[in-house]
Amino acid sequence: MSYPHLLKPLDFGFITLRNRLLMGSMHTRLEDEPDGMAKLAAFYAERARGETGLIVTGGFSPNPAGLVGSSGRMLARPDQVPEHRSITEAVHDAGGMICMQILHAGRYAKHDDIVGPSSIRSPINRRIPRALESAEVEQSIEDYANCAVLAREAGYDAIELMGSEGYFLHQFFAPRSNQRTDEWGGSLENRMRLALEVARRVRARVGQDFLVIYRISIMDLVDGGNTGEEIITLARALEKAGINMFNTGIGWHDAPVPTIAYSVPRAAWRFALRPLRQAVSIPLVLSNRINTPEVAEDILASGDADMISMARPMLADAHFARKLGEGRADEINTCIACNQACLDFIFRDEVCGCLVNPYACRETELVLKPATKKKKVAVVGAGPAGLATALAAAQSGHAVTLFEAASELGGQFNLARRIPAKGEFNETLRYYRSVLRKEHVDIRLNTRAGIGDLGGFEEVVVATGVTPRMPDIPGIGHAKVISYTDALTGARAVGQRVAIIGMGGIGYDMAEFLCAPQVAENERVGAFLEKWGVDPANRGPGGFLPTGIPKLKPAREVTMLQRKTDRPGGTLGLSTGWVLKSELARYGVRQLVGVTYELIDDEGLHISINGERQLIAVDSIVICAGQDSAHGLYNELLAAGQRPHLIGGASKAAELDALYAIREGTLLGLRL
Ligand code: FAD
Ligand code: NAP
Ligand code: SF4
Repeated sequence: MSYPHLLKPLDFGFITLRNRLLMGSMHTRLEDEPDGMAKLAAFYAERARGETGLIVTGGFSPNPAGLVGSSGRMLARPDQVPEHRSITEAVHDAGGMICMQILHAGRYAKHDDIVGPSSIRSPINRRIPRALESAEVEQSIEDYANCAVLAREAGYDAIELMGSEGYFLHQFFAPRSNQRTDEWGGSLENRMRLALEVARRVRARVGQDFLVIYRISIMDLVDGGNTGEEIITLARALEKAGINMFNTGIGWHDAPVPTIAYSVPRAAWRFALRPLRQAVSIPLVLSNRINTPEVAEDILASGDADMISMARPMLADAHFARKLGEGRADEINTCIACNQACLDFIFRDEVCGCLVNPYACRETELVLKPATKKKKVAVVGAGPAGLATALAAAQSGHAVTLFEAASELGGQFNLARRIPAKGEFNETLRYYRSVLRKEHVDIRLNTRAGIGDLGGFEEVVVATGVTPRMPDIPGIGHAKVISYTDALTGARAVGQRVAIIGMGGIGYDMAEFLCAPQVAENERVGAFLEKWGVDPANRGPGGFLPTGIPKLKPAREVTMLQRKTDRPGGTLGLSTGWVLKSELARYGVRQLVGVTYELIDDEGLHISINGERQLIAVDSIVICAGQDSAHGLYNELLAAGQRPHLIGGASKAAELDALYAIREGTLLGLRL
């Protein structure tokens, strides 16, 4: 497939972007690190070498009150310009273009001087904002304009005004957060005033020949949000005020609807941009859950958008655009929307990373170099840990043989990809198949390596993974008992009434797998919107249907159980766990904690809680009780006097996930 629309330049007269790929703004926390601006410069320069059309930075505040946290960066004074030049020069030297996002956090800020249009707390911030005085609102307009001028001086090719996701400009626009009675609140005209004044003042100060982008929310997805009509009115006025292009945002950060997690179908929000297409004539950028070149090309070819924003996909693969241009689309490392190492790290105050790309945001630390001594390397097991080791070792110049007992690469990822919302995991397997072939890795499928197969290798890596744990419960051999492997592969049929033993990540995924109805590919977006009560016509405030977020009809009756008394779901990802919990609650899944398993028999699962016995009358009992390391081969090799490496689940089954496995495998592959 070719990508003529994606690779076509976008010409504004005074600036031409090399292609239609915009790297969306992401806060990485690199700026909070020692030597942070140098790390950021390396991060952006790598994406510029990857031929990204326009890189948008994480947000920089125009004044101290607008900072996201007590640390963070701003561009408010001339003495702050030089550190920004280190970024713009690095990007320009690498042949790219970079836009600085101006972001005022308003009531989302996590510091002591938090301000907003009104003194109304955000549901995701315990701090109560101080309502700005009218003169302070005026001053903030001046701060935006000053910041834009400094950005131009610092060498940025454009600025983006952050007006979506519930930040400061958006807070003034929406009745949810703006209950002022002066000229900055009340009527639509008044609520739009701040955004318009900022756009006009910025335009007046930076001149006509400078690209000014406005990131507008095309659907608010919160109570007290704007209607589609109000959004269109703002967009028309912003166009007149001198904005050159609209980038788009979906939902506030506190929206009760997932907007970018893996459970959101690809390009799910495409419909929300169409009314804007009719209303304005400047270029439009579509964002959120667009992660493959095929989907992006289709959106551009249809005329729905003029440019595609990809943020996390640029973490997953810095060279996305370059690979397209070179006809290597099959080598793109696709973002699987797991949020595990990007958003979840940011929420934990850690530097951002990427599950599928351990190099992301580590550009100055983790560098692929040719090995000083080329070796013959055997990797046993082609789960995430083995795949990552084999790739990094082969890219370093070693001759790698990869043994896999199964008929396909992927290990447990071949189970994960069967979960309805985790279809993206297929892309990671496609990526490894392509790049391992390109790196001439000798892949031996259907080959369970024994000690006899491993002679003649200078390094042996054991990545034999995990085996599902079968708990020691009387009656565990009963015909009702099914392993999670057999349930997911369909090797054993699961009945209508089901008990799931174990409430870790796999137990939750299993509950979703058993409850969710089958949905045809072309009906996925419609089913998603219906599941979350979203109105495709974006009529009411926030874009919800009057019925709200509905109860769901499960395909099976499911009870989940765990022995601990802890709150269920504590190990799920911060930015994705709430989605799964909301869905299972609405499917009516029952959750029991503090359980002792007594017996399995023809009646079902007998348990006791606080000494009280009860029967869970079910047709099937699916075991999701964790895993044990499969390290038999490693022990044999040790006993034979060899010094193999042990990684991934084979080394550590507890707290193992693919993020850990891929990172550990990559680090080992680089140092062999
Ligand atoms: P494995 O994936 O177990 O791979 C080991 C491989 O070694 C297997 O292919 C096996 O066949 C092979 N092997 C074993 N012995 C030999 C031998 N002697 N010779 C040749 N080959 C051998 N993790 C996340 O981070 N995020 C998620 O969202 C997520 N969801 C999941 C959902 C499900 C349903 C499941 C089951 C897992 C999920 N995981 C998730 C966990 C993740 O898949 C595992 O942590 C990861 O696969 C472990 O990688 P590994 O390479 O160590 O082991
Ligand atoms: P897990 O998170 O360790 O959960 C295992 C569950 O089994 C727990 O609920 C545990 O609860 C129960 N259990 C353990 N030993 C048992 C026994 N002997 N008898 C009965 N119950 C037992 O493991 P997992 O769910 O298998 O997940 C494996 C890894 O994959 C995890 O590290 C997880 O991070 C990763 N994963 C991640 C995601 C994700 O969305 N990020 C999704 C799936 C998997 P009690 O001990 O209280 O009974
Ligand atoms: Fe995408 Fe997951 Fe990487 Fe985040 S961690 S960029 S969601 S693949």
